[in-house]
Amino acid sequence: MFNLILFGPPGSGKGTQSEKLISKYGLKHLSTGDLLRSEIAGQTPLGLAAKSFMDKGQLVPDEVVIEMISSALDNNPQAYGFLFDGFPRTTAQAEALDKLLSQKGTSIAVVLALQVGQNELVKRLLNRGLTSGRSDDTKEDVILARLIEYEKKTAAVADHYKKYDKVVYVKGEGSIDEIFDDLSSAIDKRSRA
Ligand code: AMP
Repeated sequence: MFNLILFGPPGSGKGTQSEKLISKYGLKHLSTGDLLRSEIAGQTPLGLAAKSFMDKGQLVPDEVVIEMISSALDNNPQAYGFLFDGFPRTTAQAEALDKLLSQKGTSIAVVLALQVGQNELVKRLLNRGLTSGRSDDTKEDVILARLIEYEKKTAAVADHYKKYDKVVYVKGEGSIDEIFDDLSSAIDKRSRA
């Protein structure tokens, strides 16, 4: 299997690049944000519980997202590999993911970390809010709360994977195709390694 994490703050382009990467590399896309939004749309108990955190720009509790990812892994036994987008977002999630993958005899091959400046992130998120239909993209205070959660809890996930020399930084500003080319060459180097 070939599993990768597309890592970066909200607005760094993970969703856009994920779509292109899964079609080039034949990976199964697992976005916890998308999974949670579909739970909300289905008005499930999990969705209703998650919504109150998401509306405030806070992270949903670890056990909720870990359980969701665990079921998604079990439900896709034939996958050639997974692209994790928006997960893991805490060190506890990273440790749980490593354990789940090792139980399946596999691991994370590479963590691609998109780097985008703070002003550009806010601009992109507000702009996305005009069309995304996501309420967490329209309110500047919620956007800032998400960026603070990222610094406080999520940035440490890169440190976790740095210990295993798995992190590759990629500039997330420029054209979509340029960024995609940089991500692709980072993957190609790792998959040959
Ligand atoms: P995203 O679509 O990745 O920007 O996620 C939207 C919101 O869903 C986040 O602001 C969190 O409230 C929640 N969320 C998504 N993924 C996670 C995760 N791995 N851990 C905790 N909360 C998450």
